[in-house]
Amino acid sequence: MEEPARGPRKKTVVAVVGGGLVGSLNACFFAKRGFDVEVFEIREDIRQAKIVRGRSINLALSHRGRQALKHVGMEEKVVSQGIPMNARMIHSISGKQSPIPYGKKGQYILSVDRANLNKELLTAAEAYPNTKLNFDHKLQDWSAETGQMTFVRLDGSKEHIKADLIVGCDGAFSAVRKQFLRRSRFNYSQTYIPHGYMELTMLPINGEFAMKPNYLHIWPRNTFMMIALPNLDKTFTCTLFMPFDDFEKITTEDEVIKFFQEYFPDTIPLIGVDTLKRDYFRLPAQAMVSVKCSPHHINDKCVLMGDAAHAVVPFYGQGMNAGFEDCIVFDEIMNQFNEDLSAVLPEYSRVRVPDDHAIADLAMYNYIEMRAHVNSKWFLFRKQVDSI
Ligand code: FAD
Repeated sequence: MEEPARGPRKKTVVAVVGGGLVGSLNACFFAKRGFDVEVFEIREDIRQAKIVRGRSINLALSHRGRQALKHVGMEEKVVSQGIPMNARMIHSISGKQSPIPYGKKGQYILSVDRANLNKELLTAAEAYPNTKLNFDHKLQDWSAETGQMTFVRLDGSKEHIKADLIVGCDGAFSAVRKQFLRRSRFNYSQTYIPHGYMELTMLPINGEFAMKPNYLHIWPRNTFMMIALPNLDKTFTCTLFMPFDDFEKITTEDEVIKFFQEYFPDTIPLIGVDTLKRDYFRLPAQAMVSVKCSPHHINDKCVLMGDAAHAVVPFYGQGMNAGFEDCIVFDEIMNQFNEDLSAVLPEYSRVRVPDDHAIADLAMYNYIEMRAHVNSKWFLFRKQVDSI
């Protein structure tokens, strides 16, 4: 773990709201600068929790995410706990498998466990003596004038805490962002796509992965698709992306099997008939939202990063990666403007908003690419780096 910057302790108090992936990484970036960092997270400490709820079980870590982890000395550790995926593996209905490499030989993206990554980042943040993690703290409201935040605890009590800088890393439905919406000249749009997603587990067979592990498996079926990413315990997490209307048409166990027989027949023996019948109805399909906004800051008081600033649909595999990159970009601008927040925050919005919007657009584009274009012959000859 890297030491915080030496020299007299700075008085600037940075409140990072949200101890998810981007918030916990961001806490490391601010702590490294020597600021007093407080992280406020609505959930209990996931390192002690029995069940960890998140937006997906695993995710693809790519170059831009790794670069950010490297800045805080976490890259090697996280990479050692990931599974390299060198190529997409396209499954046709007949069961034929065709690999499409992500880039040149040796290039790969990594399948990482979301909960584990979050735990590692929280532990990394906590290792800085100038960082405090506060769990069971739900941000209710805050003032852009004074920097005072109101948190509600599970027992109903309230806490009022002041910070010099509030960093909103509280995800797609950000409470920090609500204050932005009350202000003039704040642009905001949110779009729910017609598709939902559902996760299914493919267990190991005879103690081994049920499919080749070093691939991101894709079953593109034009209007819908399934993907599968490997996990360290030799399971795969399969994610079915499909219009809600289609999810709703499947109401019985027999219909689930019929649907899989028609579109994903090669997966039935691998997932198992009983597991499929059970898991399909375990949880309802989850919605996916794309959020764009600008600017990403208010004065010198508050900045949004990660999904709070730019929730993207997951088809480009870049939501977390772009959020991690936000941390590097902010850090570089802090250096450039000597930590003068009144100059840093506007510059961050100026530089970052167009790139975050571009990622959101690319993710929407890949929404069609992955489920439809990937089927076409020309795609099979094309190389595309750094997207899922
Ligand atoms: P979150 O992970 O949402 O964390 C926000 C945190 O804030 C949470 O811990 C939450 O509890 C806390 N919080 C919320 N409200 C409050 C409040 N009021 N007060 C205090 N705390 C609060 N990205 C990739 O890069 N690669 C992938 O392969 C990938 N796959 C995905 C697959 C799926 C199915 C989905 C849905 C997303 C995927 N993503 C992927 C996107 C990725 O999950 C997000 O971009 C990433 O989680 C964003 O991190 P975040 O910290 O900004 O937000």
